[in-house]
Amino acid sequence: MDGTGGPGGGRTEPRELLTIGAFARASRLSPKALRLYDELGLLRPARVDPANGYRRYAPAQLEAARLVAWLRRLGMPLARIREVCALPHPAAADAVAAYWAQVEADTAARRDLAAFLVDQLSRKDTTMNASPTPLSLRAAAGTDGGLVRTVNQDAAYAGPRLLAVADGYGPGGGPAGVAAIDALRPLEDQDLVPEQDPEGTALLNSLEAAAQRANLAVQRLGADRVPGEPGGGEAGCTLTALLRSGSRFGLLHVGDSRAYVLRDSGLVRITHDHSLVQSLVDEGRLTPEEAPAHPQRALLVRALDGGAAFVPDLQVVDARPGDRYLLCTDGLYGALPAGALRDALAAAAGPEEAVRELIALAREAGGPDNIGCVVADPTAA
Ligand code: MN
Repeated sequence: MDGTGGPGGGRTEPRELLTIGAFARASRLSPKALRLYDELGLLRPARVDPANGYRRYAPAQLEAARLVAWLRRLGMPLARIREVCALPHPAAADAVAAYWAQVEADTAARRDLAAFLVDQLSRKDTTMNASPTPLSLRAAAGTDGGLVRTVNQDAAYAGPRLLAVADGYGPGGGPAGVAAIDALRPLEDQDLVPEQDPEGTALLNSLEAAAQRANLAVQRLGADRVPGEPGGGEAGCTLTALLRSGSRFGLLHVGDSRAYVLRDSGLVRITHDHSLVQSLVDEGRLTPEEAPAHPQRALLVRALDGGAAFVPDLQVVDARPGDRYLLCTDGLYGALPAGALRDALAAAAGPEEAVRELIALAREAGGPDNIGCVVADPTAA
């Protein structure tokens, strides 16, 4: 196909090539779209006139142009379209099928999240008018080293107001996770009166201030280490925490540990992983099914590492009696599919049993990583 576009053939063959206008008419695409596809590297013209920059297309490119248009209508990300267009037909068919399976899985997860949000928002009005029912927590926490790792760098905490998990990485990662949770623990004693905090601002401010203290604590640990020495070098942790205030939770999150809520027998994930593989999934370059096997699955794009750029996610969650919350590290959700998490949570009589059962299941699944989890039931106080 380069034969039509080479500099030598330029003088004799342009007649066989179509102008962008003619190619646009033949492909039912606008010249503007064709220029965009060229700029994005999705469909290069067969020849670009070096003198005036006019694009010329070969008739054989019509099929590729139509495929690009179809894939864009499907909502496929541009990077993925580029990959599909480079494949031979049977492989391209497989790639489209894999993409659609991913869309359907994402849609199912988003449907649960949407139902959760609809519920949150419809409750807002009623709780504003009536005084919200204060809730108390029944909660349990546990960690386990798993069957492969020689040290346990996961930490978990469950108190009357505060729930937290942390997953340390690097040398000194274990102490980082413990220090991070310790920095949040003074929040247990803070009496945040929900009636004076209708938007949850005070709740989130307290959490954010505590998170900054946690980051400083991890930074101080790092300052004691010498890079290149045993126990030195890069270290930090994930941190996912819920702080109860009245009938609400403040959610603090950084890294790839997760928070879930089991509500109306559906399990909804309420955190977004700050990991490289999640970024690749978001961009459509990796399917959620491929993510667990990715060689760089442990790579975080955000963490609590003592750095100046530390920014946690913060969110308010309206809790209700009957909910069951799960905080866990990747050693749990990486070992068990979401359906197994949901079933074990739904079957357990209480938080202690749920934590025991989840850790046992992760160990049965091979326990390749440290396992840390917290399960909590809000109940009417
Ligand atoms: Mn882990």
